[in-house]
Amino acid sequence: MKHTTCPTCKGTDLEDFFTIRNAPVHSIATMKSYEEAIKVPRKDIELTFCNRCGLVFNSAFDTSIDHFSQGYEDQQGFSPTFVKFITGVTERFIEKYDIRNKQVVEIGCGKGDFINLISRLGNNKGVGIDPAYVPGRGEQNPDVHFIRELYSDSHGELQPDCITCRHTLEHIHDTSGFIGIIRSSIKDAKPILFFEVPCIVRILEIQAFWDIFYEHCTYLSPGSIARLFRLNDFEVLDMHLEYDNQYLFIEAKPVGSRSDRIHPLEEPIEELRAKTKLFSEKVNAELAEWRDRLCRFKEEGKRVVVWGGGSKCVGFLTQFDELGVIEHVVDINPHMQGNYIPGIGKQYVDPEFLETYRPDVIIVMNSVYMDEIQESLSDRRLHPQMLGL
Ligand SMILES: [Zn+2]
Repeated sequence: MKHTTCPTCKGTDLEDFFTIRNAPVHSIATMKSYEEAIKVPRKDIELTFCNRCGLVFNSAFDTSIDHFSQGYEDQQGFSPTFVKFITGVTERFIEKYDIRNKQVVEIGCGKGDFINLISRLGNNKGVGIDPAYVPGRGEQNPDVHFIRELYSDSHGELQPDCITCRHTLEHIHDTSGFIGIIRSSIKDAKPILFFEVPCIVRILEIQAFWDIFYEHCTYLSPGSIARLFRLNDFEVLDMHLEYDNQYLFIEAKPVGSRSDRIHPLEEPIEELRAKTKLFSEKVNAELAEWRDRLCRFKEEGKRVVVWGGGSKCVGFLTQFDELGVIEHVVDINPHMQGNYIPGIGKQYVDPEFLETYRPDVIIVMNSVYMDEIQESLSDRRLHPQMLGL
């Protein structure tokens, strides 16, 4: 299957610039056994650039795979670093648009951590919409309700003052179809939209190949997300990059006719295209360097573990698992422990496991957590070599 038109602008002037062969199609799905984990199908990722709107997407993405309705683990709230970050971002957003005593809808709410947070901080009434919502895993707030469905036109009846959607759009192939449904669901109310996605600009600039995995079929930049929103009759109010430039936030409102308001963070299409070229020139050297490093560890008989499960870890191990260097993956989310990594088959272990395993090298999947991890290791009197992505 090959998509030959851009999901955002329907343009056909597309250029492939990077391919990953045989990537596991799931990365955060919960796998209860080794057999189940290694049975996960593998498919190719072909990153493609749209010369018309700047969208980067997997043009080989199989839209028939159901990534939404099965169980998955994506809670980040077990890390104090993350909780501090998301609380700060949410407080600033509430302040900026006076989201207090309002009705807030979250599309793709996961376990409900964020809809609970924004409802609590702003004394709001919240509705979380997600087909994979699991009751009883988040805090209990009588003002927060959940609907186990995919977002559709009928949810406009909720008449929200604010629609949030975090780390969901990058899982959706039909970008304009999705943003279009949100626009058409909005009738009389004028909600503020608050969306968060990973930013492709950083991935391209530092050749962050571990941030490319099958579940993410859409890779947005400030320019391409702003164009997507404008094309679907939203006006961009603001955009900002957070978390070491990894996450891109966009704030927007519905408008009656096409907005021509451009945000200063938007990059020209040509500039992003140049970054895709540079990425494809440099990424193979980056991959080779990691391969050499891991082979050296193996020759030296070093015990190497990965810290940080989830998608980045699947993205990283897709490239290097066959080397047989990494035996264990650590994650602090207690709900992941015991589960097996989709496609890879390794079992998640908790940090305590390292006290007996005594690793020589730890590869940290997100350097933002380096201090937090160092502290946890020092408490266990462990001082391995640390490498951060
Ligand atoms: Zn396009």
